[in-house]
Amino acid sequence: MMLQQTQVDRVLPKYEEWIRKYPSLGTLASARPADVARTWRPLGYNVRPRRLHWIAREVMTRYDGELPSDETTLRSFKGIGAYTAGAIQSFAFGRRAPIVDTNVARVLFRVFVGRGDRTTTSLKKHLWSLSAAVLPRQNVFDFNQALMDLGAMVCVSRRPQCPICPMRPICEAYPFEADAERNRA
Ligand code: SF4
Repeated sequence: MMLQQTQVDRVLPKYEEWIRKYPSLGTLASARPADVARTWRPLGYNVRPRRLHWIAREVMTRYDGELPSDETTLRSFKGIGAYTAGAIQSFAFGRRAPIVDTNVARVLFRVFVGRGDRTTTSLKKHLWSLSAAVLPRQNVFDFNQALMDLGAMVCVSRRPQCPICPMRPICEAYPFEADAERNRA
């Protein structure tokens, strides 16, 4: 939830402080709202700590302190959408669940679609379907993390690093990106 619309560099120091202070959902649930809000600063989007606090309390009272692992229940909590539910399922429970963040969406779009408008609702749905279709049977955690890292470090928004990219042989966007790079040279 800290990573929703926030870069990793900004989140890391705060995450460490947060985990030291609230090492379990139980400690978070019993914290005072004002302390939770103060600990979250300066990440912004202040509705997120309130929701996280509320989720912790719900889990303690309604689910015996165990965070549910199924998508439907996770998404019934305010503040957990498709991306966060996928991240929790994949990273915390090792389930075969897709995650589409900005970086993953860019990689999938370039590899399987190539060009066009990436913002339409139908295309967003298509990218979610693709992300589910390409999931391996095992090591989903590693696969999702690798896809996110590929988008963050290689298939970046401007000037993707195609020459070192493992997806180059099958990438629909590669010819266009290679042309653009040649034009820049
Ligand atoms: S070949 Fe280039 S455009 Fe295609 S996925 Fe790799 S970095 Fe992105």
